[in-house]
Amino acid sequence: MPSLAASAPIALDFTTLFVVAICVTGLLGLLLLFAWTQDRVQALAWWGTAYLVGGGSVAIWSIESHMSPPLPVGTANAILFVACGMMWTAARLFHGRPVLWGSMVTGSTIWLAACLFPDFVHSEKARIVLSSSIVSTYTFLVAAELWRERRKYLLRRWPAIFVPVLHGLVFLCPIPLASLLPDNSGIIALAGGWIAIFTLEVMLYLVGTAFIVLFLTKERSVRIHKNAASTDELTGLLNRRGFVSSARLLIERFAKRREPVTVLAFDLDHFKNINDQYGHAIGDEAIRLFASVATTNMRASDIVGRLGGEEFVAILPGSMSEAAVAAERVRLAFETAGTMVANLPLGATVSIGVASGEPGTDVMSLVASADRALYRAKANGRNRIELADQFPSSAPVDGGLAALVAAAAGQVTAPVPALAS
Ligand code: GH3
Ligand code: MG
Ligand code: MG
Repeated sequence: MPSLAASAPIALDFTTLFVVAICVTGLLGLLLLFAWTQDRVQALAWWGTAYLVGGGSVAIWSIESHMSPPLPVGTANAILFVACGMMWTAARLFHGRPVLWGSMVTGSTIWLAACLFPDFVHSEKARIVLSSSIVSTYTFLVAAELWRERRKYLLRRWPAIFVPVLHGLVFLCPIPLASLLPDNSGIIALAGGWIAIFTLEVMLYLVGTAFIVLFLTKERSVRIHKNAASTDELTGLLNRRGFVSSARLLIERFAKRREPVTVLAFDLDHFKNINDQYGHAIGDEAIRLFASVATTNMRASDIVGRLGGEEFVAILPGSMSEAAVAAERVRLAFETAGTMVANLPLGATVSIGVASGEPGTDVMSLVASADRALYRAKANGRNRIELADQFPSSAPVDGGLAALVAAAAGQVTAPVPALAS
């Protein structure tokens, strides 16, 4: 085992360094496997195994010159490249993409094929260029997997992308270095000190990556739990809890700009009859249909939720009149789509109550107000829209004293004949 020259940038003993690298890599591998036993995230098992395989390859590389009978030429590197492929596979699995077995072992296959040529085996330059290229390629592929997902998780992802990109770039450095020096001039011996720095960089990369992988796994499981807690299973819309917390954020944002928001309360008409006549499964189909009609007929910035049963709610930035236009669009679209559901003449329709509040009004009082308007839409014949008094708490209402008295009693609504069917 060579010892580093005193003139090297850092005087470190190779043997110690490799033993530390192997131990650290093995420990991290076991740690990731342990995390896998807890979280059952398949990518962790792959990542942990990749570390163990990689550590094993370095161990073999350190002792292969003493082995008898000797291993086939290039075995240790080939194993290392499989480990690199496994890390890339883990990154793919983490994002729900399948294992590409062929691509995973392409690096080691190319390496082993090259090792069949004595000219390659005896050329330090060729070996350095090929091995650096293989490691860099897999590392950039890991970064690319993370980059593809960046928009979903925004800036918190940057270290996860930056770390492998940096590592890939570091591994490209030996290529120009090797091509600057004459072949077989003892490049590896000359670059002894730099190999030490390289080994340290690899260790830091492995520690950093293990940390990032564990962080991403935790972040994902928190996100899954959060989504499950705030998502309605039948429709995929927000449930009551999810709607209220999203609506509060929207209200807060628009209150800062002193802009109003409007709540729509939806209730499917005669839904009990639909269930009774066609069965619960068809009822569910109508609920899903409404969810899809509502979301496709509203803007992406609008928040739609299912409060339960056949009751839905939405919050939209803007005034009541703007929201009434959206409400009418949804009502009409559902009337059309609900005529036939699953080839059955359901004739499903929806009634809608619309309520707006002063900037900063609590979401629950807006929902209550929209609900009262909805109640009137039911009383007035269903498949229609009714608007609540614009600002029941403070604004004067068109319609004089009677309207103000009714507002105080919480009953004032201003039907819009043009919108009501
Ligand atoms: P209205 O026009 O006054 O709203 O009449 P309605 O029949 O729609 O209202 P009602 O509240 O009497 O009935 C609601 C029905 O919705 C009763 C319940 O069985 C049904 N329901 C509640 N949740 C679900 C669900 O998840 N799936 C299905 N299929 N039906 C549901
Ligand atoms: Mg109902
Ligand atoms: Mg109903």
